[in-house]
Amino acid sequence: MHWRILLALFSFVGVATAVEPRKPNVIVVVADDLGYADLGFQGCKDIPTPHLDALAKCGVVCSSGYVSHPFCSPTRAGLLAGRYQQRFGHENNPKWLPNDKEVGLPLDQVLLPEVMKNAGYVTGAVGKWHLGAHPVYHPNRRGFDDYFGLLGGGHQYFDHNQFKTDPAKANETPVEVGEYLTDALGREAAAFVTVHSKVPFFLYLAFNAPHTPLQAPDKYLDRVKDIKDEKLRKYAAMVCGMDDAVGKLTAKLAELKLTENTLVFFFSDNGGPVGVTNCRNTPLRGAKGQLYEGGVRVPFVVSWPGTLNPGKFDEPVTSLDVFPTAVAAAGGEAPKGVTLDGVNLIPHLKGEAKTTLADRPLFWRTGGGESFAVRKGALKLVRVGKTPDALYDLSVDIGEKTDLAGTNAGTLAALQKELDAWNKTLVEPKWEALNAPRKK
Ligand code: CA
Repeated sequence: MHWRILLALFSFVGVATAVEPRKPNVIVVVADDLGYADLGFQGCKDIPTPHLDALAKCGVVCSSGYVSHPFCSPTRAGLLAGRYQQRFGHENNPKWLPNDKEVGLPLDQVLLPEVMKNAGYVTGAVGKWHLGAHPVYHPNRRGFDDYFGLLGGGHQYFDHNQFKTDPAKANETPVEVGEYLTDALGREAAAFVTVHSKVPFFLYLAFNAPHTPLQAPDKYLDRVKDIKDEKLRKYAAMVCGMDDAVGKLTAKLAELKLTENTLVFFFSDNGGPVGVTNCRNTPLRGAKGQLYEGGVRVPFVVSWPGTLNPGKFDEPVTSLDVFPTAVAAAGGEAPKGVTLDGVNLIPHLKGEAKTTLADRPLFWRTGGGESFAVRKGALKLVRVGKTPDALYDLSVDIGEKTDLAGTNAGTLAALQKELDAWNKTLVEPKWEALNAPRKK
């Protein structure tokens, strides 16, 4: 018997009271280090992604979809807390420190799964955690009723024993993954919705694919055999695997007749690391780690058939919007005394909002102040180290090629003022970057 079925039999979650009309299920799917241009619905021609393309086709594709950080763990922290992660010091990837209580998504943050639980949802996390290795940070202690995945940030896809310190776990019990890791995550996501199909559920499906190491089985490599470049071919095969895993989940939703009553988000946790996997962020400038568009602008889909008409949405949206959107869909209550940094997207995506998102500022900071960016309207300021601030007009220059700072002093100064005011609301990073030089 699948471990999830056993769990459901011996817990209360399987007997939660269903109300009519039933609350919508919410699923957040996060890809890891996916290139901006590497999915069919983003214009890709050489990697077949039929399941994600189908999700996009029946949902809203957000053409200006952003994440709150250009690399893994901070984006995931901001997503689950609904706040700029620099507000609570989660600005660098945490090291693997299972004995250190100080390194992980700070415990004073109220997380989305906790709020969803309070709204009557069963909550599950499948995949990469990367939000603290000490037991106090375990997903089961941060609002997730059940969990299957790996607690660290990087993982082998075949040889799961290679990382003996961080075995796959079902809740807190080490388990065999049993197959190619991405396939297993699709299997577990489908099993979660099967077991909890009678109650509203919240599922966080966080892939580590297509992050390195570049490892894929022949069944996926065969689909992209025409790609000549070996690195790109392996990466592309991993994208195919992720697409299949998403397909397993969406097919299960359809089989259970839950498609129309399920709100699904899909995006990548950061832009593609072009120089590492040869993935493509075309036509964006830059890559993972940077605050040019290639680091933070990502494929972004919101699907809720029956509630949202399929189409395209061009106003800027961010991963920070997921929290308030999910809570609103669930009829839940946002944590008291906490200022969330995103908005409920549903009225905007339905065309019913009285306000526009076009002019709200979106901010970024890395390394405690090594680089900054702010986008407001179509204009974006990028500050890298001590070099002068650059200014780009994304409406005509999505590739950030032409610096307008020299001829737009007033606009630049206004953005600098907003950025500096935002920066004053942040705290210092709670821990150093993984590869930070030792401080004297
Ligand atoms: Ca990542």
